[in-house]
Amino acid sequence: MSKKITGTLIWYYYICPREVWLMAHEFDACQDNYFLEMGRFLGEQSYSREKKEIEIGNIKIDLLKRDGKKIVIGEVKKSSKFESSAKMQLAFYLYRLKQAGIRAEGELLIPKEKKKIPVVLNSNTEKELEKAMDEITKIISSETPPEPKKIRFCSKCAYGEFCWV
Ligand code: SF4
Repeated sequence: MSKKITGTLIWYYYICPREVWLMAHEFDACQDNYFLEMGRFLGEQSYSREKKEIEIGNIKIDLLKRDGKKIVIGEVKKSSKFESSAKMQLAFYLYRLKQAGIRAEGELLIPKEKKKIPVVLNSNTEKELEKAMDEITKIISSETPPEPKKIRFCSKCAYGEFCWV
């Protein structure tokens, strides 16, 4: 399994495989993109009091806290629109932590919607993640990106200029 796989790639895998390739190959996304800005803003402001961003290997966790004896990690998103992708991203962090001998639970945090969605790692999720990681490895090993496919995310995607002229 590639060490290059990050939580962000997992998130994009469930949205658009072409974006996985572009991101992994370090194509510069448009930094003015409103949604990137919003994501940064929500990450930096909404949970600033309990925020403890940590990095373990190539994973970056938005929040880490103790809840009694439990370790809980949080991932902040701007909306629940892509909830299943966000859950898999968080599950990937739990998976990586488990590999490092750390058992944790996850919380998907959507401050604008005042939502806190619990995420736990179970055997089905682990299998699903392993399949996704294999697929991502195949995508990023390819010399060319998958063809673009119009999806609803395209209008908000910072890579639009690489797909649609
Ligand atoms: S613009 Fe659309 S097809 Fe292109 S990378 Fe973004 S989501 Fe994928």
